[in-house]
Amino acid sequence: MKRKIFKRKFVSPLMQVKLLKDLVEEMAGEGTGLIVEILFGKKDVNEFLIAKKMNLTINQVRNILYKLSADGLVSFIRKKDKRKGWYIYYWTLKTEKCLVKLEDALIRKIESLNDVLSSRETKRFYICKPCDIEVTEEKALEHGFTCEECAEVYELSDNSEPIKQAKARISRTERDLKLIQGELESIREKSRKKRARAEKKAAKEAAEKRAIKKAVRAEARKKVAAAKKKSAKPKSKKKVKKASKKKAAKKKVVKKSSKKKVAKKKAKKSVKKVAKKGKKKVVKKVRKSSLLGKMRKAFS
Ligand SMILES: [Zn+2]
Repeated sequence: MKRKIFKRKFVSPLMQVKLLKDLVEEMAGEGTGLIVEILFGKKDVNEFLIAKKMNLTINQVRNILYKLSADGLVSFIRKKDKRKGWYIYYWTLKTEKCLVKLEDALIRKIESLNDVLSSRETKRFYICKPCDIEVTEEKALEHGFTCEECAEVYELSDNSEPIKQAKARISRTERDLKLIQGELESIREKSRKKRARAEKKAAKEAAEKRAIKKAVRAEARKKVAAAKKKSAKPKSKKKVKKASKKKAAKKKVVKKSSKKKVAKKKAKKSVKKVAKKGKKKVVKKVRKSSLLGKMRKAFS
């Protein structure tokens, strides 16, 4: 079977309903197609409403719907009726699943029509006109070209009419198939776009989370660095002091202690300044996004 690439055509809902009705009747029995009209384009339809519209009992309706749900063509939710205490089922037609099923059925139909066409184009058939029975050439040969039922001599069938009919049915079915595939393509395109939007949103949220983590880490590093400076600076000064002390005369012992205090104070001030500066920078970064702002509260 050849599958052509085609431009999307408009499929009227009426056409879809007609094709889906055929499908449902094939799956759930004659006369059940009406259910498509009731469910098409709706969501969570009360089963009592369906029964009323189809003029069937609730059990008859459920039997049809269970058959269809076995193939995933309908889905249901159930809710407990508060007054009566029993469950009521609400049904939804799964349009995409139905169309996929329909697509399969139409492809198979076209294949079998093509088989019929090619056998009509390449083989001979014989007919007994009184009985209106047609047989293959092999079968006719088996019976010496006379009818099994009435012994009438077989006549060669005219294949032109069956060929014409098969060709017409193939083109009709191919047209239906194209409509269904076009509809499916548009449904899939919609869900692709929906998925892409969701992925984009998730990526954005992940990026925001990363930014927050980064800011938190930066803040933590600054705190650690500030703490290190606080404890390390006076020590280094002490060393310097010690070194200079060795060079200097040991007479300045009294002055040393007061000088040390001043140095310590200076160191403390500078550490505070550095810490403040660091904090300001982080605050700027954090205000860029409201989410980051919320997080700042958490670590401030
Ligand atoms: Zn006959």
